[in-house]
Amino acid sequence: MTEPQDPSRERLKHHFAQRVIHQARHILEAWQRLQRSEWSGESLCELDEANVRLLRFAERFEQPEHSQIARQLQQVLLAVETNQGRLSSEAISELNRLMQRLSRTGLRHGDSLDQTPLPPVRKPVYLLLQDVERGERLAMQLEFFGLYVQALVNPAAFQDSLRECLPAAIVMDVDFGGRGAGLQLAAQAQQGQEPKLPLLFFSLHEADTPTRLAAVRAGGQEFLTGALEASGLLEKIEALTCVAQYEPFKVLIIDDSRAQAMHTERLLNNAGIVTRTLTDPIGTMAELADFQPDLIILDMYMPACTGPELAKVIRHNDRYVSVPIIYLSAEDDLDKQLDAMSEGGDDFLTKPIRSRHLITTVRNRAARARNLKSRMVRDSLTGLYNHTHILQLLEDCAFRARREGQPLSFAMLDIDHFKKVNDSHGHPMGDRVIKSLALFLKQRLRKTDFIGRYGGEEFAIVMPDTDIAAAHAVLDEIRERFAEIHYPAQPHDLQCTFSAGVVAMVEASDSLTMATLADEALYRAKGLGRNRVLAV
Ligand code: GH3
Ligand code: MG
Ligand code: MG
Repeated sequence: MTEPQDPSRERLKHHFAQRVIHQARHILEAWQRLQRSEWSGESLCELDEANVRLLRFAERFEQPEHSQIARQLQQVLLAVETNQGRLSSEAISELNRLMQRLSRTGLRHGDSLDQTPLPPVRKPVYLLLQDVERGERLAMQLEFFGLYVQALVNPAAFQDSLRECLPAAIVMDVDFGGRGAGLQLAAQAQQGQEPKLPLLFFSLHEADTPTRLAAVRAGGQEFLTGALEASGLLEKIEALTCVAQYEPFKVLIIDDSRAQAMHTERLLNNAGIVTRTLTDPIGTMAELADFQPDLIILDMYMPACTGPELAKVIRHNDRYVSVPIIYLSAEDDLDKQLDAMSEGGDDFLTKPIRSRHLITTVRNRAARARNLKSRMVRDSLTGLYNHTHILQLLEDCAFRARREGQPLSFAMLDIDHFKKVNDSHGHPMGDRVIKSLALFLKQRLRKTDFIGRYGGEEFAIVMPDTDIAAAHAVLDEIRERFAEIHYPAQPHDLQCTFSAGVVAMVEASDSLTMATLADEALYRAKGLGRNRVLAV
């Protein structure tokens, strides 16, 4: 082993911690590959072996959190092995939960409530904008939110940096270094990279199809146009660079034949898809509310009702208009299939079906539906959940918290004297403050919290598994930090504060009551002089 230059204990610890992190990354990548393929005995072996190494390193280098996760992973993998190597919905959910924990351990800047003993791996993000000054400004904003960003000024600097260190992600202006030159530069950088580098293209102007095609061919995973602002970019970079951050797809199977349903479940579980089965269609609406599936697989003929009848009932509820419904049936009369599709179904698959056909259909449809939904429920200025959706989430979380006997807190925030910001600095500055608070909340709250833009300069936060004391403490800390931000302005820099009301779920309270109480607490906070957090 080579001696690190600085022989201090901390340095050594850091050095060894990197090995543990490296091994954790292996596991996360193996898990991620699985989401794109099918589970097999080999995948089990691969995960198992990687995990054994993680456990060994974690123990040797005294990383208690990693050891704990590795031990729990070992247990789940053992359970899978005893289940003849088959993945069940429970195993998928549990593995995913552990993978998410693992991905938070030292790979990213820490969750505020879930502090990690490890320093994050600081791989840089390379930012290449045609407008160099803008690039530098954006880099600074992103740095402020914990990313390590290098704005590079010309292709040579980019190539030098690449040789020195592979980035966490590349953000490339298609016109960097000349019209369309960014595309070529990125394509060259990707050559010989396996896996490909996370790559995000940007174009100041609306791009035509050939340009977008070239971007796809150069390995670009995202294409952004227009004004590039920090919060949107941060979200995209996080999505590209966080391994295993995404939830497995959830599919509800409604079929009166348990044997048939079990067969479908097994095929889908093998692809890392979580399933639930309902053999009595009468329970459909309750199950939908509880499980929130990404997609529904429906039988055509059941004793209580037909599939198309049930599809209509599901579509009557606004919340489920966009959940894909796929019929899976032995019915091979094309006319009947088409009739069924016109009653709110999205696709018709005929039994018997090849597993690959089923899995591909389900994955594609579910991914599209998720994407669409995320656009429907988000506010365009901040990327946070919109008013309707945050209330919906509060309702869902309250339901779950009550059933599982877990605490739940809800907060409403409102920026103080915001009218003055608009009046004295202009509306664009106001927008900037709103966006920056949104970004601030996203960075400082846990990934499991839900943040919404409730109204103009009002925000709402749903905090599952959080009691009121913890919620108050977290928000108060955020309040203090937010007040420290200086926005450059004339004649003086601008500083803003917010007030907040927090409420905890109690036995009888429903989501509407919680929202009202939080609102009342917020207005009391305003009355008491603003810049404070009040708990009910
Ligand atoms: P208080 O401390 O009592 O909350 O005072 P306030 O001035 O913040 O409250 P008030 O609700 O009177 O004013 C909110 C202002 O926020 C009014 C509105 O013009 C402005 N606003 C609402 N939405 C937006 C937005 O999206 N962008 C900008 N720039 N301003 C907005
Ligand atoms: Mg206000
Ligand atoms: Mg207001």
